[in-house]
Amino acid sequence: MTALVITALVHLSFSMRGDRARGWPVKTKVTLVSAAAMAAQLIDGKAVAKVLEAEVAAEIARLGIRPGLVAVRVGNDPASEIYVRNKAKKARELGLEGTELVFPETMTESALLAEVARLNADDAVDGILVQLPLPKQIDPKKVIDAIDPAKDVDGFHPANVGLLHLGRPALVPCTPSGVMRLIDSTGVAIEGKRAVVIGRSDIVGKPVAALLLARNATVTICHSRTRDLAAVAREAEILVAAIGRARFVTAEMIRPCAVVIDVGINRIDGKLCGDVDFQAAKETAGWITPVPGGVGPMTIAVLMSNTVRAAARRRT
Ligand code: NAD
Repeated sequence: MTALVITALVHLSFSMRGDRARGWPVKTKVTLVSAAAMAAQLIDGKAVAKVLEAEVAAEIARLGIRPGLVAVRVGNDPASEIYVRNKAKKARELGLEGTELVFPETMTESALLAEVARLNADDAVDGILVQLPLPKQIDPKKVIDAIDPAKDVDGFHPANVGLLHLGRPALVPCTPSGVMRLIDSTGVAIEGKRAVVIGRSDIVGKPVAALLLARNATVTICHSRTRDLAAVAREAEILVAAIGRARFVTAEMIRPCAVVIDVGINRIDGKLCGDVDFQAAKETAGWITPVPGGVGPMTIAVLMSNTVRAAARRRT
């Protein structure tokens, strides 16, 4: 027992010296070392989202404006119905003008494009989001391309995607932006870290990788064709899982003390679970997000923040 304590103390003092040399805040790394000896610290997405929401409300008050967000839904997808309603509700809660526009499943592509053109031209509208998926007769690319990039609060328009990858972000996709905020909430410095993103979708994997790169992490993107994915994942000091496969990431794929961000939303026997095997992973990771209560709450909060940002930019 004594030997154990001494070993821990020696380890701690070395870590603190190492941290000073690397310019890390000493306090952060002390947490990192203690995390190795016990279960991971939970990253509380609800709490981090609340802080961002308070910032959004304060920014609206400071600017003295009422930014307008319009969420467009086509058809009756039950998940989309809940998402869109929650987005409009949260907007109103924080002092934005949140409007939900619902169109029938049979809407034509040209009718939706005309609606987007109308919203682009409406000066009271600062943010437009079109909830995906769309019915099969509508090409989502055409619709996204039609949204004014200055009002594209989802950050999906090619102009905004391009700026992000050039390291000149304008409006950044909400979930990836939320992921970064969660990593930052741990106090772990991103610069110089080995980061691995599992998943290369346009809405999560690729933008998360671009944001990590912009913060000077060394980034690897893994996908369905990656060879020996487990070995690559094990190198990650920051691991982001955005795959859409329940409990895909096992404890063996996690480097001790890693920051693990689980973007996945899956359902097993009616219960929500992430892409990470949370119960096992929390014994190895240093920090980990739960599902639900991790990345999920961040997405809507960032959407509100993006809308205020868009409103402020349009008015300057
Ligand atoms: P997607 O299906 O578009 O992309 C999944 C990615 O995972 C693909 O790039 C694919 O290459 C990769 N992949 C699939 N199988 C793999 C395998 N066996 N090995 C390695 N890689 C594999 O999904 P998405 O839109 O990026 O979403 C990913 C997950 O995140 C889903 O569960 C989704 O519901 C969730 N999500 C959550 C939020 C949120 O707000 N929390 C937002 C968006 C998406």
